[in-house]
Amino acid sequence: MAAPSGTTPAAVIRGENLVKIYWLGENMIRALDGVDFEICAGEKVAITGPSGSGKSTLMHIIGCLDLPDSGRLLLGGEDVSTYSENRLASVRNRRIGFVFQSFNLLPRLTALENVELPLLYAGNHDAKDRARQALETVGLGHRLHHEPAQLSGGQHQRVAIARALVTNPDIILADEPTGNLDSRAGEEVMALFDTLNAHGRTIVIVTHEQLVAQHCPRQLHIHDGKIR
Ligand code: ADP
Ligand code: MG
Repeated sequence: MAAPSGTTPAAVIRGENLVKIYWLGENMIRALDGVDFEICAGEKVAITGPSGSGKSTLMHIIGCLDLPDSGRLLLGGEDVSTYSENRLASVRNRRIGFVFQSFNLLPRLTALENVELPLLYAGNHDAKDRARQALETVGLGHRLHHEPAQLSGGQHQRVAIARALVTNPDIILADEPTGNLDSRAGEEVMALFDTLNAHGRTIVIVTHEQLVAQHCPRQLHIHDGKIR
C-alpha cells in the first residue's frame, strides 16, 4: 500500500523469514519455508494459494494460535515469536478476532449468548450490551434469541463475525469464511467485511477462491510455503 509522502504506515502485522515444519513419520514438511510480509493497519488483504500451500499454518501463526520454528512475527511492533503460551493467549485475546469456515457456534446457545462468550471469559460486566451491539453491526439485531439451527448459513457466519468483533480486536482473521456458503451468502459476508474495513478494521482473509480474493485490494500468494 502506498504511504502518504513523508510517513510510513504502521505495519500491524509483520512476518520475517517465518519457518514452520511438521513431521509426518520421517517426512519433513516445510509448511512455511521462509515467509516475509507486512500488513498495514486498515488494510484488507487476501492470502491465497492452493490447498496444502500453507495458508492455514500462516493464519495460525499470525493469530497467535501457534509459534513459528524460526523467524519472527511482530504484531503492532511487538515480537511475539518467543512468547510463552500464556502471554501468547493474552495477545491473541486482545488483538485478534477469528472467523472460521465452519462457524464454530455452540448449538444450544442463542446468537446473543454465542457472541457474549468471549467477553464472559474475559470477565466483562457489560457483555450483553456489547454482544447486542455487535449483532446489530452485522445486521442481526432481530435474531438475538435465535439458536443456530434457526438461522441460515449466511446468518451463522454473521453471528461468528459478531463474536469476532465483540472484543474490539485490531485484526480480523478469517480462514475460508465463505467456504461453506452459497455464492449469495458468500457475497453478503464479503460485503460485511468491506463495511468493517471501511470503519478501519484490518482484515486478513485466507481463501482459495479467486472471487473472494478479488474483493481484497491486495493479495499475498503462497505456494509450497513461500510467498511470491
Ligand atoms: P492450506 O491451509 O493452504 O491448505 P496448511 O497450512 O493446512 O495448508 O498445510 C500446509 C502443509 O502442512 C500441508 O502439506 C499439510 O499437509 C501440512 N500440515 C498442516 N498441518 C499439519 C499438522 N498438524 N501435521 C502435519 N502436517 C501438517
Ligand atoms: Mg487451510
